[in-house]
Amino acid sequence: MNTYFDTDVAVIGYGPSGLSASLKLAHHGVRVTAFEKEHSIYPRARAVTVNDWTMRCFQSLGLDQALARTMDATAALRWVTYDGQQLMRVEFPPSRFGRHPRSYAIYQPAMEEVLREAGNDMSEHLNVMYGKEVTEVRQEPDGATVHWRDLATGEIGQVRARYVLACDGGSSATREQLDIRLLGETVETRWVVIDARVKRWWPERHILTFWSDRERPVVDIALAQGNHRWEFPLASHESEADFSTHAQLWKLLHSLGVTEQDVEIHQHAFYKHHVRHAERWREGRIFLLGDAAHLMPPWAGAGMQSGIRDAFNLCWKLVEVLQGRLSESVLDSYEAERAPNVEKMTQAAVQLGRIIRREFNEATPPQGASTHNQAPIEMPNRQDPCLDTGWVRGPIAIDSIIGKMVPQPRVANAQGRLCWLDDLLGEGFALIGDGVDPSEFLSCTEKGAWDRLQSRYLCVLAPQDQGHGHHDIIDLDGTLLQWMREHGARVVAVRPDRFIAAANTHGLATPWE
Ligand SMILES: Cc1cc2nc3c(=O)[nH]c(=O)nc-3n(C[C@H](O)[C@H](O)[C@H](O)COP(=O)(O)OP(=O)(O)OC[C@H]3O[C@@H](n4cnc5c(N)ncnc54)[C@H](O)[C@@H]3O)c2cc1C
Repeated sequence: MNTYFDTDVAVIGYGPSGLSASLKLAHHGVRVTAFEKEHSIYPRARAVTVNDWTMRCFQSLGLDQALARTMDATAALRWVTYDGQQLMRVEFPPSRFGRHPRSYAIYQPAMEEVLREAGNDMSEHLNVMYGKEVTEVRQEPDGATVHWRDLATGEIGQVRARYVLACDGGSSATREQLDIRLLGETVETRWVVIDARVKRWWPERHILTFWSDRERPVVDIALAQGNHRWEFPLASHESEADFSTHAQLWKLLHSLGVTEQDVEIHQHAFYKHHVRHAERWREGRIFLLGDAAHLMPPWAGAGMQSGIRDAFNLCWKLVEVLQGRLSESVLDSYEAERAPNVEKMTQAAVQLGRIIRREFNEATPPQGASTHNQAPIEMPNRQDPCLDTGWVRGPIAIDSIIGKMVPQPRVANAQGRLCWLDDLLGEGFALIGDGVDPSEFLSCTEKGAWDRLQSRYLCVLAPQDQGHGHHDIIDLDGTLLQWMREHGARVVAVRPDRFIAAANTHGLATPWE
């Protein structure tokens, strides 16, 4: 058996999913080789939004502030008709997960640029091979060999890795090579996406607007950095040729009252929506992430974000496995945890699409976004992150704290420094107790298991309490203590991705061990 590895993890594709995975792994000292067949960032602005969950992921890499500087907070979304009637308006609630608003409008190329720059700074652990296309992945019992070809020179080579992450997008050649079917359907309607640069402000330009109309529903989005996007469906009798010139595109924009004085068109593209997922996301040591594993319509703004969340979910587990703290079995929880969330987002996107096309009962206005013969839609921007199953101890239920993401309030440490909760939780596991040292709740065996995971033990106090020592967290506005008490928990174990793995309510042994 060949026990030599050129790298710990090979990442195929350096789009949002591959970038996020590479950064997360390299940040923790894992050796990564990433392959990207293109040299430059994909120029079309595709994804339009990120939310507070995604920003919390990037906070764990110290990148959220730099990213936020390229973004604009989203205030609200509204549904309007062409004759100006507002059917519904939803204000974005404040976030419970940190310093960022619930939702941001982004400009994807700018966001990817920040991430790529961060990758350049991690060159000690991260080697990005631009212009190299992966042609084949051969799996062996203890690793996999990735074969590549330089698209400019024809040079070929191979890299041996312990694990391979296929982040090679919707038409993933790795998925095909592994014979993993992509299940689901592609919606026949073709959409034209028009990207423009803003020349002057118009009323409510910054409000995400769905122009609800059965014939021509339109998505109208203020992107960051002075960019704006419209997405129009083509009618069944129309083709791409009908919208190939700017004059033809302008007719669409004029129908919304947007003129040449308002914006300058800089690109347009056509695409169809997919509601698809790979039948399995893992084959031995090869994992599918992002669009390679699932494709959803854009209405919930969750396509790209789901890939980023896949990366952060899988990669903390890979770090633990590669550094010898958790057994390989934890990797089985990647698909188990991510697939139900992706399915929820996909269904939300499908249902929001129905509202946009006004496929709801006219007699029942879509207040609270409920649709005809459909369960009320939980607006994706209001959903709190939650696991349905996975690497947790105890049942996951609506009133259970298990599987939920811990809020991130402003806190202070014992020395009086004010910061955000995650700054005190650290990058790994943390057990936190309501006014008690969490260790007091653990048996010797339990304590030994959490110690092996290098967990931190922290005591949360109210601002009026007397501090105990240097492991105190002062919960300045009471958010954390209230949240734990509402769920009847005195001690919780927080995973590196901030989900609750265990609580004294259901037993504090480490999950699955
Ligand atoms: C027109 C359009 C509009 C969209 N609008 C939205 C939206 O509004 N909101 C939203 O959230 N999402 C949207 N999406 C989806 C979003 O862009 C994707 O979900 C996201 O880009 C997926 O990221 P990814 O990294 O998984 O895949 P990709 O972004 O596809 O990246 C895959 C990367 O892998 C590289 N690659 C592929 N094969 C190989 C190989 N063999 N060797 C080396 N490199 C390889 C590719 O060059 C590419 O850089 C849209 C997508 C499109 C196409």
